[in-house]
Amino acid sequence: MANIFSGGGRELDLSNGGTEAFVEVLMLAVSDLASEAWDFRFAALLILQDQNVMGRGAVGFHLEEVDWGADESERARSKDFVLRATALAASGHRWSELGYHPPHVHDYLDRFRIMVEHFTPPAGTGPRHDFPGPDGAAMASCTRHRVLSGLPYWDGCFLCNQPR
Ligand SMILES: [Zn+2]
Repeated sequence: MANIFSGGGRELDLSNGGTEAFVEVLMLAVSDLASEAWDFRFAALLILQDQNVMGRGAVGFHLEEVDWGADESERARSKDFVLRATALAASGHRWSELGYHPPHVHDYLDRFRIMVEHFTPPAGTGPRHDFPGPDGAAMASCTRHRVLSGLPYWDGCFLCNQPR
């Protein structure tokens, strides 16, 4: 079983453990960078990648399904946010809080960065079923870990929910 993250003809095919590490280091970065409404929707998308909730090997997303924004400047800003979060994650930001060492995550983040860099967010705002809307944004922040959480769907952040 694997989880596929794709966009613009590129693909990042991750094992279940690899997915967990990839999503968690991104979540730590996004939690500290998020400032605009869109950022909290992207955080909610990351929360939906929790395999304990969605099923092992049943997550992943396509960049084509993300609602990048209504106009070109919004779309550019959204893409820039994802790239900044990816770069911050790749710097090792808050990895010490994970409780484990994510061995291959540098490679995953690098491949994801290249995928996003080469991706042109499509114009048009059709319904995007897999990207959380403003009502589903992860606006809550766990006070214990300072990590965004998807309340009211889940109690606490991914660190609260870790069985460690
Ligand atoms: Zn927490």
